[in-house]
Amino acid sequence: MTEPVRLVDALERIESEGLASIEAADSLGVLEELRVRYLGRSGELAGILSGIGQAEPEDRRAIGQAANTAKRRLQEAHTGRQAALESAESAGVSKADLTMPGRRAWEGGVHPVTRVIDEICEIFRELGFSKVRGPEAETEWYNFQALNIPLEHPAADMWDTFYLADGVVLRSHTSPVQARIMETHEPPVRVVVPGLCYRRDPFDPTHAPAFEQIEGLAVDETIDFIEFRSAIQYFVQRFFGLGRRTRFRPSYFPFTEPSAEVDVSCGVCNGFGCPTCKGTGWLEIMGSGMVHPAVFQAVGYDPERYTGYAFGMGSGRIAMVRHGIPDIRLLYEGDTAFLSQFIS
Ligand SMILES: [Zn+2]
Repeated sequence: MTEPVRLVDALERIESEGLASIEAADSLGVLEELRVRYLGRSGELAGILSGIGQAEPEDRRAIGQAANTAKRRLQEAHTGRQAALESAESAGVSKADLTMPGRRAWEGGVHPVTRVIDEICEIFRELGFSKVRGPEAETEWYNFQALNIPLEHPAADMWDTFYLADGVVLRSHTSPVQARIMETHEPPVRVVVPGLCYRRDPFDPTHAPAFEQIEGLAVDETIDFIEFRSAIQYFVQRFFGLGRRTRFRPSYFPFTEPSAEVDVSCGVCNGFGCPTCKGTGWLEIMGSGMVHPAVFQAVGYDPERYTGYAFGMGSGRIAMVRHGIPDIRLLYEGDTAFLSQFIS
């Protein structure tokens, strides 16, 4: 076999191998390696051409033509494959493994405290209560004095809060909204007031410096303690279940008289006593009472003509009682591993 035939054969082999490899290249990196290997300055094609000097002069033309043809075809194949890989990469499909199992879509849910608030509002809506909201930044007057809490009275310590400016505080309960509603509305009044409240409390298992509270107020000419108890009992049975009992314990609040703490029978032990209810059989859920005449006077209602009741509960506390949650901080930390349990 003569030298020129060997060189032309070698060119044909390089061309066909190169074309097949370039077509099979699955990434731009591999393609670049092939370009260097076949078309580069020290590539296979250049290697052949460097040997052309040893060929017979009359054969050089044929070898040169074959080399040029191989070079052109390899360059065209390279350009075409490069464009295809670039468009696939920009479309994001080049690395996709279609055999991988799909990822589950994120599933949202209502926060357990929000669900408590919504359900309480709905139950009282059936009893004729409207839902209202009020400002979280409140004046001392509405947060304390209008609710029969003199600033110098020891009871004011129970509602100690954060001061924003002289006489302006972050409200420590939703009760200021009661005073605002009564100032602007004539009886009958029936409202529920959900909202954030703030207290100078540590962040520990049973306290949070910012927490959700929900408040209720009913004022009319004929409201008595029996109607008050009936409404609370109706709420407890609707919210916690028909088998749950309600207990009223005498208590003290400056803005109600008489005042009562309301307990619900423990759902874990059915009232026999267990660790959840600390052996008492009861779980405390709210403070309540008949509206104090001094509050009516402060907002311009005639205490001889009108009576009413009010109640307030921590929505987070209610969620803890309902779900057996031991630490209030779990409700406010935004830990999705904890919260995802409550997606229904
Ligand atoms: Zn119990």
